[in-house]
Amino acid sequence: MKQNQTKNLLVKNITFLDENFSFKINKNILINKGTLKLKSSNKYYKDCEIINGKNLIAVPSFNNAHFHLGETVFRDLAPLDSLQNYLQYTDKNSLLINTDLEYNTISMVSLAEQIKNGISLVNCARGWTAVKQSGIRGCLGYPLMKSKKLKKFYDLSIKKIKLVGRYDSQTKNNTQHILAGLWIHSLEKVDKKILKKIAELKCLENFKNRPLAIHIAETEDMTKRFKNSNKVSEITMLEKYGLLGPMTNLIHCCYVSPEDLEIIAGTRTNITLCPQSNINLKEGIPSAKKMEELGINLSIGTDGLATNPTPSLLSSLRYAKSLWGDKIDNKALFMMITINPAIASGFRKKGFIKENYLADLNLYSVNKPFSDPDKFIQYLIDQNPTPVYLIIDGNIIMKEGHIKTFDEQKEYFNFYKIRKKLIQNAKNNPAQL
Ligand SMILES: [Zn+2]
Repeated sequence: MKQNQTKNLLVKNITFLDENFSFKINKNILINKGTLKLKSSNKYYKDCEIINGKNLIAVPSFNNAHFHLGETVFRDLAPLDSLQNYLQYTDKNSLLINTDLEYNTISMVSLAEQIKNGISLVNCARGWTAVKQSGIRGCLGYPLMKSKKLKKFYDLSIKKIKLVGRYDSQTKNNTQHILAGLWIHSLEKVDKKILKKIAELKCLENFKNRPLAIHIAETEDMTKRFKNSNKVSEITMLEKYGLLGPMTNLIHCCYVSPEDLEIIAGTRTNITLCPQSNINLKEGIPSAKKMEELGINLSIGTDGLATNPTPSLLSSLRYAKSLWGDKIDNKALFMMITINPAIASGFRKKGFIKENYLADLNLYSVNKPFSDPDKFIQYLIDQNPTPVYLIIDGNIIMKEGHIKTFDEQKEYFNFYKIRKKLIQNAKNNPAQL
């Protein structure tokens, strides 16, 4: 074993959910070099760290296809009467967050909440330092948004976006830790010069497999405004620039027309829904059933934690289920937080418990046996239990609510100092609220 690789981990006598959504009962899962080995013989079991899997059930850990690292600090402070007012508030108040250190603190708290909810991959903008530090995986986009808070990125974008590859990183086991891509807030917040540049970059060999995330048709107003001034829909515009495809993740899609959905399906473009955040901001709900019927790779993300009341993807599924009822079954829902977002984020061999897949697992404690996988998924969605273990790349990142990779308390302590500044500012300038 190379010095920098982590020790093998053996989860003994566990029940796990396989890629066919069947339970494999009383099995051993060996983790070697950050990947799953389900068929290993006993000779590989020497020198392993061992977890007794009795009374535990393993599922693939969750992948959040849409998240904002910086919004958590605005929770219960920013107005939610409309996205416009929300963005106005956050843009103004983000000027009070003035150092990279403060931004990192907010990101670490956001990631702590993801980790405790069994999430092993986040898809969001920047956060390269925090993601590396936390041990979670990231599909992290270089942010392109004309706003005060992201001005320094936008102004340098033409030169810098060519270099996003330098943000990529691998784990000690040489599996993908960070995959860097591009993050466009929305078509309204970029100009066509940038779109043209991205289109040129996307044609380059070393750029075409980089993920692109973009908020689409999030509000009715924005959707109408875009159509009126451009005479085409956002989807048609993206298609024109060649920016749709399997590496593009369209977020929200609350007001996408049936014709546009056909284009999305035809180009194998991904969609990520955040219905709870949409409802909070007084917007509509997209038709997931129609998207699913068209074969679109569909994920559910949490969105930022100021517009979404929960960091939990299981809670987000419960909310989705309350909206869609039985139109979408448990298996399809579960795939929206496991395999589908891994695909949408450009992570291969992630999202299933399968031979040679990435060793990213959630282990849940059960005090009654489950023989029916569907009932177990239903239990997860209904009860939102915290996993006893979150394993990423074969490492125990969280055990019984305790994060192993960083000092969560210290991050929260500094986080509340930043919150204090925002609360003080709100008191001094009540008109901003
Ligand atoms: Zn968002």
